[in-house]
Amino acid sequence: MSDKIAPDSTVVIVGAGLGGIRVAENLRSGGHEGPVVMIGAEPHPPYDRPPLSKKVLTDAIGRVDLKPDEFFGDSTIDLRTGEHVDAVDPAGKTVTVSRADGSTYEQSYDALVIATGLAPREFPGAGGVDGVFTLRTIDDAERLRVAIGGAKAAVVIGAGFIGCEVAASLHSMGLSVTLVEPAPTPLAQAVGTEIGALVTRQHLEKGVTVRAGTGVDEIVAQDGRVTGVKLSDGEVVPADIVVVGIGSTPIVDFLDGSGVELASREVGGGVACNEVGRTNADGVYALGDMANWRDHGGAQRRAEHWNHTVEQAAIVAAALLGTDNAVVPAVPYFWSDQYDLKIQVLGWPKADDDVHIVDDDGHKWLAYFSRDGMLTAVAGAGKVGAVMKTRPKLVTPTPIADVLPD
Ligand SMILES: Cc1cc2nc3c(=O)[nH]c(=O)nc-3n(C[C@H](O)[C@H](O)[C@H](O)COP(=O)(O)OP(=O)(O)OC[C@H]3O[C@@H](n4cnc5c(N)ncnc54)[C@H](O)[C@@H]3O)c2cc1C
Repeated sequence: MSDKIAPDSTVVIVGAGLGGIRVAENLRSGGHEGPVVMIGAEPHPPYDRPPLSKKVLTDAIGRVDLKPDEFFGDSTIDLRTGEHVDAVDPAGKTVTVSRADGSTYEQSYDALVIATGLAPREFPGAGGVDGVFTLRTIDDAERLRVAIGGAKAAVVIGAGFIGCEVAASLHSMGLSVTLVEPAPTPLAQAVGTEIGALVTRQHLEKGVTVRAGTGVDEIVAQDGRVTGVKLSDGEVVPADIVVVGIGSTPIVDFLDGSGVELASREVGGGVACNEVGRTNADGVYALGDMANWRDHGGAQRRAEHWNHTVEQAAIVAAALLGTDNAVVPAVPYFWSDQYDLKIQVLGWPKADDDVHIVDDDGHKWLAYFSRDGMLTAVAGAGKVGAVMKTRPKLVTPTPIADVLPD
């Protein structure tokens, strides 16, 4: 089936975030002449999320826009912020949109591209408690930044990448920080416990308290304001700020009843797509954090990383333009900035891969991952060159023995 659309087709993009703006930009630079309508629920133009857990908190740099204001006019991209897509009708090729004033309208499309991202999980029972935060949007980050100003002690629940980054940022802003994680180490799910131990070391060195292998029973509040966190071992850690970083779920509720197929939870959920982002519904595509693409090995995967989204946006646009459907499979990449270290991961690490730490000076480190004797990934902290140099060996299947030092 060809994905190519006519040059005068109307493309509607749901979600004005990284994935949405990159698709719009690629369509225009690829010569698409028809209307491009981008509908975003937030009242902001597309902006970058990685700074939210870092410099937006520590340096109050504010929103980092992905494009200058004039880009939208110059590129004739019809950006509609503060509007929410409530429903999709693939048979009629329309979406139902609600505006901030409560009014609604129908928007028709020839191709629909969905990039709605994720909603952070709330801690059960903590909704509405003052001083408890999740972090996904610039408004979340600004609220947290203001609260940090008057706080002394923070607990971060969940030591995934965002939790670790927030812990580092809060610590550098002078707060006493406790990082709580039920897994044996931070980042254990993403990169396993050996690398997790190196990340733990980095936080401990700075003076963050790491309570790994410990769950949270309850967020303790008095008069509607958080006062601490009760751990599964009974200890109550006092806190005037709690940041909850316990994962996020794909935003797909507006697809209820549309017939657009979702991927199973076992493979990460989200909208099920083929290798170029096409869903089971005619003319409907999805990408970014909420999309679950089939890889070239036939497996369904969902990733929550910046580069991954950018690469998928190029693939979706190329498919719609009919310029390049034979896309070279990319090697997944992501980074995380914690304190003075950039942690980078390239490839397909699994928590139960064999891990080979080949360099560790007590601060910076480099490790390879392998499975069944083959290189699967590389990870490093403060090792930008060495990590990036490994990319060709991940593009072509490479025995781990060829990578390890003699
Ligand atoms: C705090 C934080 C730090 C991060 N740091 C890193 C990092 O260091 N390295 C890295 O690789 N990645 C990082 N990421 C991940 C990266 O930012 C994401 O992978 C990327 O933003 C995904 O883009 P997206 O377009 O899929 O979703 P988003 O950027 O989330 O955009 C989705 C947009 O769709 C809107 N939307 C949702 N539903 C609707 C609807 N029904 N109608 C209209 N609009 C809707 C949302 O409001 C949102 O604005 C970070 C993410 C966060 C939150």
